[in-house]
Amino acid sequence: MTEAPVDEVFAALEDRYGEPRTGSEDPFRVLVATVLSHRTDDDVTFPAADRLFDAYGDVQALAEADPEDVAELIEPVGFYNRKGEAVVRVANRLIEEHDGEVPAEREALLELPWVGPKTANCVLVYAFGEPMVAVDTHVHRIANLLGWVDTDEPEATEPALEALLDEAQRLAVNEYLVRFGREICRPRGPLCGDCPIEAMCPASEDKEPEGVGEVEGRTMLGRIADGR
Ligand code: SF4
Repeated sequence: MTEAPVDEVFAALEDRYGEPRTGSEDPFRVLVATVLSHRTDDDVTFPAADRLFDAYGDVQALAEADPEDVAELIEPVGFYNRKGEAVVRVANRLIEEHDGEVPAEREALLELPWVGPKTANCVLVYAFGEPMVAVDTHVHRIANLLGWVDTDEPEATEPALEALLDEAQRLAVNEYLVRFGREICRPRGPLCGDCPIEAMCPASEDKEPEGVGEVEGRTMLGRIADGR
């Protein structure tokens, strides 16, 4: 399969979405919201994260929370009971081991409950501006669709993209492909007729556009940062 040209795709996505919002988010909110998002759709994660941060807005408040109250608040996110426990444990670990701060080192992040490579890299990209590849379902799917990688699992996509992309592209790839995957290159019904990279896309001939609708375009993390 012909690969879509990486630099041209990023240029087109930058035209559409502007500079990526990296290195500017609150580390604690990025960390907790990304834990909540695990195996949960954005339209469930967003309101749950809003409810959680309204009730427990900082590390100390969440550390003192009753996990059952947190679970009740975040339901119906997937695994809400376990995630309720997990985020309270995360807050306590941050206080006990990191003076209440989110660490900026990948290894330290990976030692926290429910924090895997995607969550760690999201924190490093969005909160600390480190050029890590944060691979969620959209990034994995679209990177394969564009022929940039040939992988079955997101765990394999991460190093493959890391080898392919330069630092600026690594910083932008999560935000751009998440937004693009939600708005245009949707898993069901991609809007190829409205796609800014249709001419470069190896899959475009196989896709039929479906009706155009208003779709929320910001990333989860950007939305949380905006307080909405
Ligand atoms: S042309 Fe269609 S399949 Fe290709 S990237 Fe655009 S929306 Fe996705």
